[in-house]
Amino acid sequence: ELANRMAERAADVVKSLMKMGMMVTMNQSIDADTAELVIEEFGHRTVRVSYSDVEQVIDTVQDSSDNLLPRPPIVTIMGHVDHGKTSLLDAIRKTSVVSGEAGGITQHIGAYQVTTDSGAVLTFLDTPGHAAFTSMRQRGANVTDIVILVVAADDAVMPQTIEAINHAKAANVPMIVAINKIDKYEANAQKVRTDLLQHNVVVEAMSGDVLDVEVSAKTGKGLDTLLESIALQAEILDLRANPKRAAQGAVIEAKLDVGRGPVATVLVQHGTLRKGDIFVVGEQWGKVRALINDKGERIDEAGPSVPVEVLGLNGTPGAGDVLNVVETEAQAREIATYREKAAKDKRAAAGAATTLEQLMAKAKADKDVAELPILVKADVQGSAEAIVQAMEKIGNDEVRVRVLHYGVGAITDSDVGLAEASNAPIIGFNVRANASARQSANQKSVEIRYYSVIYDLVDDIKAAASGLLKAEV
Ligand code: GDP
Repeated sequence: ELANRMAERAADVVKSLMKMGMMVTMNQSIDADTAELVIEEFGHRTVRVSYSDVEQVIDTVQDSSDNLLPRPPIVTIMGHVDHGKTSLLDAIRKTSVVSGEAGGITQHIGAYQVTTDSGAVLTFLDTPGHAAFTSMRQRGANVTDIVILVVAADDAVMPQTIEAINHAKAANVPMIVAINKIDKYEANAQKVRTDLLQHNVVVEAMSGDVLDVEVSAKTGKGLDTLLESIALQAEILDLRANPKRAAQGAVIEAKLDVGRGPVATVLVQHGTLRKGDIFVVGEQWGKVRALINDKGERIDEAGPSVPVEVLGLNGTPGAGDVLNVVETEAQAREIATYREKAAKDKRAAAGAATTLEQLMAKAKADKDVAELPILVKADVQGSAEAIVQAMEKIGNDEVRVRVLHYGVGAITDSDVGLAEASNAPIIGFNVRANASARQSANQKSVEIRYYSVIYDLVDDIKAAASGLLKAEV
């Protein structure tokens, strides 16, 4: 493969490796560093295509400690449903608008920044919940520095609270407990603290080292203290990044915008992203045409921990994809094409494996498990993945939900075709079917259901699943 790409004879490559003391055959894999040596030996130019390699090279070259400057922490809010995650995110966002930041009107781009009274800048991820957190992690984008665990003081530690604790621990991310709804008459913060104790979360008030703050997303009580606690925790973590190197960031949301084309919200992790920069992101590439911040303003550059909407992509990347700035368009295109091919090969390989798995699952299903197949289309990758994870949790020994396919964008003819073949309904989450898909769905009696709230969807599917069970009995 290497010889092929260099247009050299394979035997010569093997010979050159042997000269370096490596006894290898033609089909053996060699590591990237060795490959680079060989390539230089033959007088060719190396293009690193895998991000981890790129990072490794850049890290050693540019990130001497002088260049590492403090950066804002990136905060994710997690907790049980209805404990107030969304309200808290909204309340925190409003604090910053009220305190008179320029712009005033905030845009939902998937993350936002606020400045505390003492001047610390904090970055909040705007997608509450564990699914987003986990799927980002699964893609290798560990973007969160601090988790805010929201627990309602009028409730207690609930299943998703425990899940959140486990996620934070698995990711080795420190937690701050926000005891919410403290304005309520029946609020009992002490009960929350003792409850948490049982799950090995020992808050400060119980002589532990996890910061805890009583807040009310409704009245705003305690929000300042919460923000200062985050700033304090961030200081302890001593978060740093080098703003001077070529930018690297993680996609937290991406969509195809009718007017603007593909748009990705990127959280810059290293370096500074600038207008005009050429970049690769997952299997896509582009040249930064515009950068738009969380206040809807066009900006020229975004440094570490800053979330920005990036315009100028040639396609829509996935949430969790990593963006790397490269030098030339040719390089960007080459890397993107290589990745696309590699991903295709991988999918083909995985496809074969899944079919087997699916066959086995089906064999089992034929015997004792009833299956409810569904198709999911959503407006953004994050929602699609969140739905898939939620769907896969529904079910028990007798019945389960199987997501046949999921994706981003409008419901199309091909979705309807797949749904018909599998006798599955199509779920549209914040997306609609295009005209021709609607027509063919009508003809083929394929059911399309629209949702904009995940919990409604979960409830309906649960009902359908139990209906399926009853029908079988
Ligand atoms: P999420 O599911 O965790 O995102 O929870 P939401 O933010 O949607 O809140 C669930 C419900 O609790 C909503 O009806 C909110 O109005 C309410 N709520 C959230 N925070 C507070 C609070 O601090 N005090 C009171 N009284 N209600 C709250």
